[in-house]
Amino acid sequence: MVFFRNDGATTFLERFFDSDKRLVQNLLFWGEESVGKMTTAEVFSKTLLCHDRNGWGRCEKCSSCTMIKKGYHPDLMVIEPEENSVKIEQIRDGLKFLFYHPQISSLKILIINEADKMTEDCQNALLKTLEEPRDNNIIILVSNAPKRLLETIRSRVLPLRFTMAANKKIVDFLQKHYSLSLTEAEEITERADGKIGKAINLLDKDYKKGLDQKRKDLIEILNQNFAKQSVYFQKITENNGRLRSTLEEWLRVLKSDKYLKELNITPEKKIKLMDNILKAIYLITDTNINKQLLMENIFLQL
Ligand SMILES: [Zn+2]
Repeated sequence: MVFFRNDGATTFLERFFDSDKRLVQNLLFWGEESVGKMTTAEVFSKTLLCHDRNGWGRCEKCSSCTMIKKGYHPDLMVIEPEENSVKIEQIRDGLKFLFYHPQISSLKILIINEADKMTEDCQNALLKTLEEPRDNNIIILVSNAPKRLLETIRSRVLPLRFTMAANKKIVDFLQKHYSLSLTEAEEITERADGKIGKAINLLDKDYKKGLDQKRKDLIEILNQNFAKQSVYFQKITENNGRLRSTLEEWLRVLKSDKYLKELNITPEKKIKLMDNILKAIYLITDTNINKQLLMENIFLQL
């Protein structure tokens, strides 16, 4: 199976897998969006549940691996936020799932993706299980905003940081697994900001088109009046992920020398704008700030 190793985190997990004594049962995979946290959580779970302990995702044949491939495994549960938050019912279902004996493997694994979207009630409901996990339980929280988790949760999980990858590594990966030419792989990598998930998304023409549109939007916004900007911001702030990826793409465009002419912006203004965008990315990730106002301020202060 195609799997991109996130060096530090994967090395730790391989050791975890090889050791018979599991000193840790609660893990937190954290790091930027699209750096492979969720993919790694899935491959790691598959490896732990596999009947043929052959090493990372190499089996793919036993009944456990086959079930995962088909999308259902009785001993693995993944919780994803619904309408932008993880609900208390979902956590209750997760806890019930952990309570029963494993059915076909020796472990029960619960993954909570975007765990920072758990409400405070959810986090409190989870706390006791994190404190006293049953022997066969593994809980993996996945988050790109771990500061939003309660301190009591954070102190009961082992954090594993997923870092950005070196460009060279992404280029090699794309060439090897997606049979791209060196130039094609380099072109995609240059836009991926060290994020393997973004690089893979960029193989999709529509995704690429979407990013090009974000650049055009920035140019337009820089030349628009306040009322028009406001309407645009209303549209993009509806979805947090979309807002963040827009801001990140703008930052990338501003950093590159390629678009200077198109942008038609003075160097001082450019630096100020980049600074504002960086602050905004931080604020939307770690706080509950009013996003519309935040976006308006980015450009108002120029
Ligand atoms: Zn297997």
